[in-house]
Amino acid sequence: MEKKNNTINAAAGLLSGYGVYKLTPIVCNKIRRATITRFLDTPLNAEQVAVYKQAGQDLFESKFKSKGYSILDASNPEQVEILENSLKSLEQHYDNKIASSKNFISRLYNKYMKRIVMKDNLISHNQVLEGTNAFYWVKKGAVVVNMEKKPTYLFHEFGHAIDYSNKYLAQSMSSLWRNKRFKNILFSTVMLTALLTNPKSKEDLEHASNREKFVQSVKKNSGLILGAYLLPSTLEECLANINGQKLAKEFVPKAHMPKITKTNLNSAIGYILYPLFVGGGMYLANKVRDKIAEGKLNCFS
Ligand SMILES: [Zn+2]
Repeated sequence: MEKKNNTINAAAGLLSGYGVYKLTPIVCNKIRRATITRFLDTPLNAEQVAVYKQAGQDLFESKFKSKGYSILDASNPEQVEILENSLKSLEQHYDNKIASSKNFISRLYNKYMKRIVMKDNLISHNQVLEGTNAFYWVKKGAVVVNMEKKPTYLFHEFGHAIDYSNKYLAQSMSSLWRNKRFKNILFSTVMLTALLTNPKSKEDLEHASNREKFVQSVKKNSGLILGAYLLPSTLEECLANINGQKLAKEFVPKAHMPKITKTNLNSAIGYILYPLFVGGGMYLANKVRDKIAEGKLNCFS
């Protein structure tokens, strides 16, 4: 009976821990959007849209157009079609991968990847159409932005373009931390290691094998590992904000600069907080899991 209870507690711990890990960043981000973002990234009126659109266009014409860059305006239906076609070809790419999978496991994995990649891309596609997001399309050298709703985002995105034109920065930005497959494997390995193992006391650890010691240190530092993995992306985004701020200063009339500064600040704060939310979520998940698995926080009583 004792053994059965332990198994139930361990399973309940795993599920609750996973729930905490998934929910924490979502809840924290919602709070951030309802507070910081609401204050810093207020909607633009028609006059502001016209000013930032003009400044963005001037910046593009004088610094980027001749180098082959482009602006893909998500308020223009013809240009939206280019985005939709790219989504379709991404889906086709995964369908081909699924069809040519060598075995059951790889087919399952490709189906899983298709689901999460398409979901992520569709969310950001809709956000760009709504004007709540923008991105730099590295392959095409295009800044994708809704010029009728949020031309203020254009400066940050051209900030990315500058960094990608730097050979060394571009190389480091396309390295392991941007690889979705690597990220999935790392995150699920760390999460499962933390949620499937019982913590060991100091005395027990002294007699443990090296492998066990390693597993325990991954468990103990799981929040830190996941948070640290996200830091290079944070750095990349903060650099884009600094570049964007500098570019805007050259083209936006001085009286309209505070709005740009707030937008860039909001973006930087969001990217700085994200690793803390994810790392904090993992840390909490681990704690909750241990309490339940040890029977100190029994959800069945
Ligand atoms: Zn960015």
